[in-house]
Amino acid sequence: QWIFLNGEYVTKENAKISVYDHGFLYGDGIFEGIRVYSGNVFRMKEHMDRLYRSAKSIMLNVPYSQDEFTDIIVATVEKNKIEDAYIRVVVSRGVGDLGLDPNKCAKANVVVIVEPLSIFPKELYETGLEIVTVATRRNRPDVLSPKVKSLNYLNNVLVRIEAHLAGVSEALMLNDQGYVAEGSADNVFIIRDGCFFTPPGYIGALEGITRNAVIDIVKELGYELKEEPFTRHDVYTADEVFLTGTAAEVIAVIKVDGRVIGDGTPGALTKELLVKFRERVVSEGVK
Ligand code: PLP
Repeated sequence: QWIFLNGEYVTKENAKISVYDHGFLYGDGIFEGIRVYSGNVFRMKEHMDRLYRSAKSIMLNVPYSQDEFTDIIVATVEKNKIEDAYIRVVVSRGVGDLGLDPNKCAKANVVVIVEPLSIFPKELYETGLEIVTVATRRNRPDVLSPKVKSLNYLNNVLVRIEAHLAGVSEALMLNDQGYVAEGSADNVFIIRDGCFFTPPGYIGALEGITRNAVIDIVKELGYELKEEPFTRHDVYTADEVFLTGTAAEVIAVIKVDGRVIGDGTPGALTKELLVKFRERVVSEGVK
């Protein structure tokens, strides 16, 4: 396995960064998770647009143009000769001293890791997931915008810890007003009477690339879709619930906080969507 590290390919054992890196010291940096299906990178442009928007928002200077960086990612995928993989792109503020001041960091550290996927076990796509809602809240958009995919993922880690304490593998967090925001690393959709609902960005969810792909597919299939805030009650009483994400793809949820969703098996519309999504990712990807 070859890891791209600041312009060189190194082995996993040699892929090392200083303890003075501000990504390590302060979570000062950004990342992306991208998927490769059958050698095709899925929605590369959308991921790179989001990465560069995140960088701009936190005034982080990515030392490559977007086109150069896109080529680097494609080259790293090719070098690793993996057809189906998850790509982790990390840009940290770089090495500085112990102070917070980002101006002390001369240049960003850039890492691209390409690995086979470890996501939810395959059976869960057949049976559906049981999830809970947790006390950890999505940070307010005015505090640290959820649109910035930053290295500060402590909220999301706490969501996972709370999920595991409840004996499940994923959970939903609410925003500060109690509206359902998203999972620890995925967006959420509910379906009622054939209409799809997903929280709008301003609720505090990341504008997921998979979420946007699913919105396109749902509309193309002719279903109604509304980006509207909803509460836990709406989730408990939905006909179907599912999560979307680069790693998770589309996965049905069959129980939320002990409430059985529908008949307790993945719903028909969710299953239809997963099939269409898998068709789409192969046909749409860029070599
Ligand atoms: N929400 C959060 C907090 C995430 O980290 C992710 C994963 O990247 C998502 C949602 C899903 O977004 P995407 O579909 O772009 O992977």
